[in-house]
Amino acid sequence: MNTGQFSQRLLEWWSENKRSLPWKNQTDPYKIWLSEIILQQTRVEQGTPYYHRFLILFPDVKALADATTDQVMKAWQGLGYYSRARNLHQTAKQIVELHHSVFPQDYDGLLKLKGIGPYTAAAIGSFAYELPYPVVDGNVIRLVSRINGITRPVDTKEVLNEIYLFVQDAIRQTKPSEFNQALMDFGALVCIPGKPDCIKCPMNDYCSAYHQSLVQTIPYKSKRVQKVIRYFHYYDIQDTSGNTIIIQRTENDIWKNLYEFPMIETTAETTPGRDDITGLLLKILPENELGATPVKVVKLKQILTHRIIHADFYKISLNCTFGEIKQPYCLVDSQKVSNFAFPKIITSYLENNSGSKNY
Ligand code: SF4
Repeated sequence: MNTGQFSQRLLEWWSENKRSLPWKNQTDPYKIWLSEIILQQTRVEQGTPYYHRFLILFPDVKALADATTDQVMKAWQGLGYYSRARNLHQTAKQIVELHHSVFPQDYDGLLKLKGIGPYTAAAIGSFAYELPYPVVDGNVIRLVSRINGITRPVDTKEVLNEIYLFVQDAIRQTKPSEFNQALMDFGALVCIPGKPDCIKCPMNDYCSAYHQSLVQTIPYKSKRVQKVIRYFHYYDIQDTSGNTIIIQRTENDIWKNLYEFPMIETTAETTPGRDDITGLLLKILPENELGATPVKVVKLKQILTHRIIHADFYKISLNCTFGEIKQPYCLVDSQKVSNFAFPKIITSYLENNSGSKNY
């Protein structure tokens, strides 16, 4: 299939099958950017409420730049891939400080912004300014590799470049915003992963994968990422006044800037020993407040892209009120703990298993 045929078929299909989404037909770069960052690795149904929430809380790039990190992380809570929220916030500051709150209007200028790669720069550039740069993501790689019958691994630079050049040539023959929108809709609705309905596909007469019965095996990937398994043990320490202790994650690791309970990480599925727990408590409490025994409440699991997190939650009930808490741990009223942004696994614990009427 040549690029002219590809764009023609794509736009003919699109004229009858456009998706109606809240961020469609937008030329405001802030709203386009926001929707694209939210939708990275997120389903439309899951991302849509976040898009609306962000626009209410932070209606423009200046409002987002002026927000605190905690406000941004709280608004993002539950969406996962938290580096997106951190980058969003930093980029907003960059646009306000270096560009007087106005997005760059050229592709290279957009690419220089933190967290904006070729895909997002192409989306903003084409939808806001009709710049002819194609949006090439996993959906597009799947579609083009099937159409062209590419049986080499698509996770190599050479093949990715081949796919990019094909789509770049196709977009030059069209109105870029419409072409990119059509590409996104076709990848999401027709040439889907697994078993697409090829019989009804308007490209099937040109599709190499369909004619060679290779739809199930294309796109082919050479690298399979092995997930790392991690074991977290969380201690929900409560005093007689209904206070608990949390701490912000600040390391360059998963969930940076989110909060969590005091935690011990082990390298295998084991229970931390008495010495480990005492060591943890000594970092938090004065020595005379130690002594209560942890009671295991629940075991939860969260699967991330490159990791599997197994978390055991324990409750420690003190028979006194907390004295002085050592930094950087924070003492919070259990009734207000939901004001903080937590990873999904802790939110799930708080909602279902805390066993405290205060949460
Ligand atoms: S025929 Fe099937 S595999 Fe080929 S483009 Fe259409 S949906 Fe995708």
